[in-house]
Amino acid sequence: MAGRQTNMAYGGTQGGRPIVVVGGGLAGASFALRATRFGYRVIVVEARAGASDDGFDARSTALSRGARRIFESLGVWEPLGAGPCPIQRIEVSDQGHLGGVSFDHREQGLDALGYVVENHVLAKALQGRIASCGAIEFLAPADVTSARPIADGMELTLRGKGGERRLTAALTVLADGGRSPIAASLGINRKHKPYGQQALVANIALQQSHRNTAHERFTPNGPLAVLPLPMADGVHRASLVWTLPGDTAEEYTALPEEILLPRLQGEFGPGMGRVTGIGRRVCFPLQLSQASEQVRPGLALLGNAAHTLHPVAGQGFNLALRDAMALAEALGEAIGQGRSPGDLAVLQDYLARQAFDQDRTVFLTDLLVRLFSGQSAARAAFRKLGLLALDLLPPLREGFVSNVTQHLPLQR
Ligand SMILES: Cc1cc2nc3c(=O)[nH]c(=O)nc-3n(C[C@H](O)[C@H](O)[C@H](O)COP(=O)(O)OP(=O)(O)OC[C@H]3O[C@@H](n4cnc5c(N)ncnc54)[C@H](O)[C@@H]3O)c2cc1C
Repeated sequence: MAGRQTNMAYGGTQGGRPIVVVGGGLAGASFALRATRFGYRVIVVEARAGASDDGFDARSTALSRGARRIFESLGVWEPLGAGPCPIQRIEVSDQGHLGGVSFDHREQGLDALGYVVENHVLAKALQGRIASCGAIEFLAPADVTSARPIADGMELTLRGKGGERRLTAALTVLADGGRSPIAASLGINRKHKPYGQQALVANIALQQSHRNTAHERFTPNGPLAVLPLPMADGVHRASLVWTLPGDTAEEYTALPEEILLPRLQGEFGPGMGRVTGIGRRVCFPLQLSQASEQVRPGLALLGNAAHTLHPVAGQGFNLALRDAMALAEALGEAIGQGRSPGDLAVLQDYLARQAFDQDRTVFLTDLLVRLFSGQSAARAAFRKLGLLALDLLPPLREGFVSNVTQHLPLQR
């Protein structure tokens, strides 16, 4: 196992057992960095060897300005350097209807409406920060293969290069992704709402500069997003998230570029200029998936393990980040109250604070998917009216933009 090794005694949190984070992806790593601010000793167990591993290649994440503030406070924003591409303009359009709505950073008096960063770039910055932070042990590649509740915590079994070993944790944070077999093994079920869509994700090359514009186009198949990325090797680049029905996305991953690019251009129109190339394509089945329980004594679920959202509104990770910060805050307060981080009341308090944010984000994302997919005349009329209203009614427009760009202020 790479990373700073520890002996099997695992000294612990405030002299006791540590917090163990299962999954060092974007959510788990962000939580770990925040939790150590309160003096907790944290062990992160990550199955992948590093941020350059398969799975971190093609996806990018649109971050809110609130997420930027959080990353600044964690010391992660600066190491990102020129990685995050500012979004200065958002253009929303509906295929088959003229016009659309656009939002510009200047009309909001902001330097950016949000940012786009490639997942592998963000993961590398998070892991770099963890490596320089003495309070976190990052065990990778290592798999947590089982979890068993014990008095005052959880016993975990790990499998890594050095073989099998056991850890006891005061609190286990499951940030192991949307499937979370560990949660399933503990009897935590998931509620699934499949959308019958897949997202085809790839980086694309553009003939001309994207001018820091993000495009969201609603088509009968579902939304199609093109997000601006920084130039690389003199190439203008953008991140494509193309929602397609069932098997079509899989079929499109195998299509030769000369057939696929005209189809993409046809769907999108001339708005973003000519698409000249497409990188490796990966498909993600899209669904709303929620864990039936997010907290138990000695256990909390975070990120995709707690709730997996459709990417239409770019909210999945932004919500996970707010959850992660709120959980760490609640654990920080537990220290002053002399309570264990695994205390159910502490974890329930965290969940109660985040419930409104989670419910609102899940509801709005699901609503957008339903309204902006499909060909029925009623939905098309609603889309048209909605876009018109956004364009013509300043208060609605301002509310929309502040929803897109703002997030809960960072407490500390
Ligand atoms: C196409 C697409 C586009 C998206 N765009 C956006 C966007 O623009 N903005 C936004 O906010 N969100 C977006 N999202 C959502 C975002 O990608 C997720 O919210 C985010 O990836 C969740 O991260 P996570 O850390 O919870 O899970 P994951 O990224 O799945 O990480 C889980 C980690 O746990 C590790 N792991 C799993 N099991 C074990 C185990 N047993 N032991 C040890 N380690 C384990 C895995 O190796 C992995 O590193 C998008 C999602 C999709 C599908």
